[in-house]
Amino acid sequence: MDKLEKDKFTDSYVENLQRITLKNFDETSEKDKYDALCDTIMELINQEWRESKEKSRHERKAYYFSAEFLIGRSLGNNLINLGIYDDVKELLCELGIDFEALEDYEDDAALGNGGLGRLAACFMDSAATQDINMYGYGVRYREGLFKQSFENGFQKEQGDSWIKDGDGWSIRVDSDSRIVNFKDQQVKAVPFDMPVVGLENGKVNTLRLWQAEPFEEFEFDKFNNFEYDAAVAKKNRAEDITRVLYPNDIQRAGRVLRLKQQYFFVSASIQDIVAKYKRYFADDMRFKNFHKYHVIQLNDTHPNIAIAELIRVLVDENSLSFEEALEVARKVFAFTNHTVLQEAIEKWPIDIVEEVSPRCLEIIYQINDVLVNHFKKKGLSETEIDPYRIVINDQVHMANLAIYVGFSINGVAELHTGILKVDTFKHWYEVFPEKFNNKTNGITPRRWLLYANRPLSSFITEKLGSDNWKYNLDELKGLEKFARDEKTLNELWDIKHANKERLAKYILEHEGVKIDPNSIFDIQVKRIHEYKRQHLNILHIIYLYHELKNNPDMDFYPTTFIFGGKAAPGYFRAKGIIKLANEVARVVNNDSEVNDKLKVVFVENFRVSYGEKIYPAADVSEQISTAGKEASGTGNMKFMLNGAPTLGTLDGANIEIFDHAGEENNYRFGATVEDLKNIQASYNPVKLYQTDKNIRDAVDALVNGELDDNNSYMFLDIYNELINPQDGSRGDRYYVLKDFEDYRRAHEQINKDYRDKLAWSKKCLMNIANAGYFSSDRTIIDYADHIWKVDSPNY
Ligand SMILES: *Cc1c(COP(=O)(O)O)cnc(C)c1O
Repeated sequence: MDKLEKDKFTDSYVENLQRITLKNFDETSEKDKYDALCDTIMELINQEWRESKEKSRHERKAYYFSAEFLIGRSLGNNLINLGIYDDVKELLCELGIDFEALEDYEDDAALGNGGLGRLAACFMDSAATQDINMYGYGVRYREGLFKQSFENGFQKEQGDSWIKDGDGWSIRVDSDSRIVNFKDQQVKAVPFDMPVVGLENGKVNTLRLWQAEPFEEFEFDKFNNFEYDAAVAKKNRAEDITRVLYPNDIQRAGRVLRLKQQYFFVSASIQDIVAKYKRYFADDMRFKNFHKYHVIQLNDTHPNIAIAELIRVLVDENSLSFEEALEVARKVFAFTNHTVLQEAIEKWPIDIVEEVSPRCLEIIYQINDVLVNHFKKKGLSETEIDPYRIVINDQVHMANLAIYVGFSINGVAELHTGILKVDTFKHWYEVFPEKFNNKTNGITPRRWLLYANRPLSSFITEKLGSDNWKYNLDELKGLEKFARDEKTLNELWDIKHANKERLAKYILEHEGVKIDPNSIFDIQVKRIHEYKRQHLNILHIIYLYHELKNNPDMDFYPTTFIFGGKAAPGYFRAKGIIKLANEVARVVNNDSEVNDKLKVVFVENFRVSYGEKIYPAADVSEQISTAGKEASGTGNMKFMLNGAPTLGTLDGANIEIFDHAGEENNYRFGATVEDLKNIQASYNPVKLYQTDKNIRDAVDALVNGELDDNNSYMFLDIYNELINPQDGSRGDRYYVLKDFEDYRRAHEQINKDYRDKLAWSKKCLMNIANAGYFSSDRTIIDYADHIWKVDSPNY
């Protein structure tokens, strides 16, 4: 910003502040100051936003349909992308305003559960920065992901009404409202547009989130009689549709309201797209060229009913034949799969689909008939066709719908796409190999480095002599030439140390636990799930605790184990894992014999804005899922980019991290997918328990009274899952005990290696230098070039 722009910004900020409050500057509150800052920034980008919309009107566009966008805060990120973060901070400081307090004032927009929703947010940032026309479509949940607190070590959930005091980053566009028809209900879908600012390039894309409202205005003439209640009930029933985000990560919620949410945002979005096409391409009433201007990426199965909805709109409202409409759909939809866990792959009972949209169910049956005829012509028998059917056993398979109609299906890491081909969707790969492709996930370096780690950003720019890495993260490779430079390695160490001090201070303030920045910060933050194996981490801590108790003079570098993450409210065992971690923390942290060497802390309410403080402060990144279960992971990439070696299994994108940064700079352990397949039939966790003393000691602590679960039976439940299954299965479905010994050894190695400061710092440097591949810019360009072909004028 030059002097003139600075003065203008300050003037309009103060003007906005006084205008919206009707107060003098000195009388305004923190909230007023935050609101006025949002307003000022929204004004600043308004023109570029309109120009970006205008310019893309007749261009090919990608539409990212996602039930989740885990955005977090927008203030800091928008300022960073506008290139005015430091300027604005300074200007506000001159006005006597504490900028960091304003940043902390903003509530996270937590409109997602975890990785899948965060990926959507990273993609929005990258598309805008890479000047790609991509529009996000989703749901404006009034209540985002629940807030988590601990009571006695147990997770408690509170509501997250993030917009109760307004939302400074959205514009309500009433004139684009649509009517969504359910079987027995009609509601209005009102779009709220959020700007998505590219990095210093003048591009502003749009994230359009739909809110459900009653179709008719509140009927006051019904006041004073029984119908008043009916009117209120009707209003509530409409608003219910976008009231709350389902807090289930992975686990599907087979509820009518959930499918209604999905159909709601998808129907509004399809209507929106079709209406705009008719407005701007009025000469193509048969939609012959529709596919040239639109490609819709389906983020997992959640929005897949869009396929039936597009056909419905084209047939019922635009008089195309079913065959014509299906042909359009075949060229428009592409599908991303995010998991191989069966419990996550959506199947909807036909009566629920019928209850939501009978017409879409009818269309799904029609598509299913086309599919069956197609495979019959190929010579398949009825039973051979079964795995392909969209409707089978009175259930609609949403993945089959998208794979059959869509032209592309992709996995999110090399290993994951491989598993889709040989296992999960093997039958589909046999008939449509050309539809399958891989797009390894990525993260945006703007939020996760430039914003979250200012000191490291400046350091990189200084070392590379330019800030080009912000646009092309591959340039980080240039850091490798400092791998033997002591001065550089010491500087890098000091930056990490400062970040650890900052986190330690924050944790003391917010969790009431004092941790030592000189200890190893070993961190596992992510949703709590058995497949992610937080309990492997905890069992290992129990083992370490016993070792230190038995041998107080043991050679051990002080370590702080940090956990964060939410459990789905209905996932009893995941909540047990949280209770277990908190109980181990209580015992260890209160034991003066060990608590100068070992500390455990589970931070409350892990979310994007907490992550921004945590990822930059890690010495060790725990990525310890059972091989084959974590499709990609993106937390692993955030740690890597901020210079933490990965302690991980050969799973998801960990494999590609090891390939890029070098195994010698990371800590790989555990069974591979191949290993697990081979031992599957013979695996016996009880035998491991009986023969391995370390395992037995740790597992016994679950039930021998050493740890207290307040009679919740949560620890017994975990114990039973590991070695005493109640359902006749063999136990330990996620191979926790199988990998324990290897995991323990890897930790031992880390504990030794960390003492060599330069060697350690070199590992950190090599991880940063090779993180370029994991930029979501690379991922989004790959989608744009190879699936969407958005830059191809002759599509
Ligand atoms: C990145 C991120 C995730 C995903 O983490 P994984 O380790 O890949 O599971 C989940 N939640 C938040 C808040 C994140 O920022």
